[in-house]
Amino acid sequence: MNVFKKISETTHYLENQKKAGKTIGFVPTMGALHDGHLELMRRAKSENDILAVSIFVNPIQFNNLDDLKKYPRDIEKDSKLLESVGCDILFVPDVNEMYPEEVNKTYDFGLLENVMEGAFRSGHFNGVAVVVKKLFEIILPDRAYFGEKDFQQLAIIQKLVEIENLPVKIVPCPIVRESDGLAMSSRNERLTKAERKLAPFIYKTLNSVKEKASAMTVDEVKLMVENMFRDQPEFTLEYFEIADAVNLQPVGNWRETQGIVAFIAAFLGNVRLIDNIRII
Ligand code: AMP
Repeated sequence: MNVFKKISETTHYLENQKKAGKTIGFVPTMGALHDGHLELMRRAKSENDILAVSIFVNPIQFNNLDDLKKYPRDIEKDSKLLESVGCDILFVPDVNEMYPEEVNKTYDFGLLENVMEGAFRSGHFNGVAVVVKKLFEIILPDRAYFGEKDFQQLAIIQKLVEIENLPVKIVPCPIVRESDGLAMSSRNERLTKAERKLAPFIYKTLNSVKEKASAMTVDEVKLMVENMFRDQPEFTLEYFEIADAVNLQPVGNWRETQGIVAFIAAFLGNVRLIDNIRII
C-alpha cells in the first residue's frame, strides 16, 4: 500500500495510473475503520483496478468542537485493516495540506439541507461537500462509494456531483450492522459497556416502525416512537422523521411514490448515533 500525505504526490501517482488505463475506486473516510467501511472498500476493490482510501477527520464538518476532539483516531490499526482489504493507495493529509487558506465556499442544496442532519448540525453538509469535492479533485476516482448509514449525506453528495458536474459515479452501499443490529459507526467506540448494551434499541425501534407502518398513520407512528424513547431515560431523541427517500422531505402518509425511509438521531450518554430503515 502506498501512503501519501501530500496532494501533489497523490494526484501525480493516480494520474499515471489513469493514463495506463486503470480505473480508480475511492472510499473517503474519517478513520477508526470498522467492517462498515471495509465493506465499501471490498466492493470498490472488486469493481475497479485500484482502491484508493482517504483518512481525514474533516474539521469543517464538525459543528461541535468536543465531538471533533473526541473523534477516535488509530492510524496503525487502520493501516492493518486497509492492507487486509488490498488497499492500493491511502491518502492521509493533515489539515494544513487540505485547507491552506480559509474556506469560504457556500453550497445551496435547497430543501435537502434544511431537514434532519442539516437542521440539527448547522454547516455540516457544507463542510462535507467542500472536502468531498476537494478529495475527488485529488484522487480522480471513476467511482466513489458511500454508505446508506449516512443516507442524507449520500443525497447531498449526489446533488454535489450534479451541481458541479463531476465526472464520478456515486455508488450507494447498504448499512453494515453488528450482530445485535446496531449500525456500525466509529462513534460506537465511545460508548461505555452499559451504553453499548442499550444501543441496539435504536435499530429495534426502527424495526417496529417498519412492522407497524401499514397498520398505523404516520402521526401515530411518530407518537409511538416518542413514547418508546420516553421510556428509555439513557437516550435523548434528537429527531425521528419519516421522509421521502429522494427529496428527504417529511411525508404525511404512506402513499408517497418515490419510497419512504424512517430516520433516528439520538444521544446515548454523550454519543450521538444515527440510523435509518427503508419502509417502502
Ligand atoms: P465516516 O468515516 O464515518 O465518515 O464514514 C465513511 C463512509 O463509510 C461513509 O460513506 C459512511 O456512510 C460509510 N459508513 C460508515 N458506517 C457504515 C455502516 N455501518 N455501513 C455502511 N457504510 C458505513
